[in-house]
Amino acid sequence: MNGAPMTSRTRTDPATRPAQGLLALALSLGLLGGLLEGVIHIVIQKAGVLENSWYPIVWIAAVFNGALLGVLGVLGVGLVSIAPRRPWMGPLVVFGLASAAFLPWLSLLLKEWIAPYAIVLLLIGLAASFTRWHTRAPARLERRSRRALPWLAAATLAAALGIEGGSWLTERMATGRLPAAESTAPDIVVLIIDTLRADHVSHLGYRRRTTPALDRLASEGVTFENALSTSSYTLPSHASILTGLYPYQHGVEWQTSKQGQAGAAANLPQTLQTLGYRTGAFSANTFWFSREHGFGRGFLRFDDYFHSVEDRMLRTAYGRIVTRLVFPRLGWEDIPARRRAVDVNRAALDWMTRDPDRPSFAVLNYMDAHDPYLPPQPYRGMFASRPDPGGLIHWERHVPERLTPEELQAEIAAYDGGIAYVDAQIDALIATLRGRRARRDLLVVVTSDHGDEFFEHGGFLHGAHLYREVIHVPLIFWSPGRIPDRWRVTTPVTNASIPATILDQLGTTWPATAAPSLRPLWTESIGRTRWPAPLSEIRHRPWAERGPVRDGSLRSLLAEGLHHIEHDTRPPELYDWSEDPHERVNLAGRPDMQAAMARLRLLDPRLAVAH
Ligand SMILES: [Zn+2]
Repeated sequence: MNGAPMTSRTRTDPATRPAQGLLALALSLGLLGGLLEGVIHIVIQKAGVLENSWYPIVWIAAVFNGALLGVLGVLGVGLVSIAPRRPWMGPLVVFGLASAAFLPWLSLLLKEWIAPYAIVLLLIGLAASFTRWHTRAPARLERRSRRALPWLAAATLAAALGIEGGSWLTERMATGRLPAAESTAPDIVVLIIDTLRADHVSHLGYRRRTTPALDRLASEGVTFENALSTSSYTLPSHASILTGLYPYQHGVEWQTSKQGQAGAAANLPQTLQTLGYRTGAFSANTFWFSREHGFGRGFLRFDDYFHSVEDRMLRTAYGRIVTRLVFPRLGWEDIPARRRAVDVNRAALDWMTRDPDRPSFAVLNYMDAHDPYLPPQPYRGMFASRPDPGGLIHWERHVPERLTPEELQAEIAAYDGGIAYVDAQIDALIATLRGRRARRDLLVVVTSDHGDEFFEHGGFLHGAHLYREVIHVPLIFWSPGRIPDRWRVTTPVTNASIPATILDQLGTTWPATAAPSLRPLWTESIGRTRWPAPLSEIRHRPWAERGPVRDGSLRSLLAEGLHHIEHDTRPPELYDWSEDPHERVNLAGRPDMQAAMARLRLLDPRLAVAH
């Protein structure tokens, strides 16, 4: 690198000194740059500039950049040694190493504020200055690098041990402080199949056999045929499933979840801790169901980022550059390092079976039915006429205006394949749990946070409106011996009732402001004629690319067999829930519907708050 073989400095150790010096310089640059990247990562994440990260990025970035610069250092040594007569080779290699070490933290620090070409110019300037500095006294700088290397390695190790060991210790200590649980307390598992619309579930009437495992759970437990999510979007809906509150109560909306979750009064995992439960969440939707978005409250373990080696690498600055610039050009369509249901299950099972003496409460979020619809084979092609359907709809990169009928059917077939894949994994999860945790009863709840649209109302995906396809979700309670089997409830309910229902099963009450326990719907001999109408909400999103949500907030109520949707500025809509499942005929203008609409408006739970 430094032309050292030509100089008197080589007298000390002519064969190895340049190689060692250059390698030490490369590794030091990598580790120091990585630590710097990690710290900048955390600081700008806290400032709200960067998303999808957490403290372990500090040591992960150091290890990744250290390894990368180590490899580049070896290559540099090779280049210098094969070109001993070219004095410019050494400085060029140092320039390359410095650029590779400076780029990640520099781009992370500046990319929100200055243009990419300006970052490149700055990078060239910094790397050139560093090279000049090195060329003036190469031996001194390399000696310093050799001395600094053990300290930098120690700092990386300390960061890894501190962060990983700290969270391990925190969990252990918090677990140790839990009160004693009742010996008969069941393990509780809440399975949230992200983006599963109810009408694609076999036992809810779908023509394809997508869900044999869920069908069995439903037949051995209680299934709610008309369950609604509280929103058509992940954040508010997950918050409702954990707090029992509607979005207007918990305040979690588009990007304001941190405040909303922090402000909510109590949530299910916190309450279960007071009953002696270990609490854990295992998320595949790391975009939204994560600690960063405020969902860590009440969980002793929250497993979101850095779940695999690939995920760790892709969350570094270099990984983000590769994800954004390289993968799309290579035709990579799937979510990078996508976490499959099998991986979510493995992590949850490891954690659940670690402590046999305590009951555990685990929330699992599965992302396999979410777009882009690219489940693993053989599921991807199992409902399609061709072997590799899916991938045309991608929320981040390309949402088509329209698809041909064949393309649309292929996307739906791939979506159904994703559902079938999750279903098979749920079957395996429950079988393993029953084997490993045989001493304890098991309570399983299955639901979804929202559905997905396949052009029923002129678009794709979710979060743009509150029509049935995006809010009608499955809801099953299964616990042999504790919950009756073959019980089907047609009363419309909200899945925000999950916390109250679980606690009711355990003999504990839940604040009256939250959605009520559903237990009376399967324990009372006379069915309730009046039940609180489930509410769904979505807040005005002016920056949305499409849908009614662009023009104002929406809320919807389901009661008397009618689905009533109100919009801030658009006329109301009313659909017959059983006769018009695709909500094509708006009844709101019919004179004979005005009295029913007036009655439905009065059922809005928000009115109780207003008065
Ligand atoms: Zn979702």
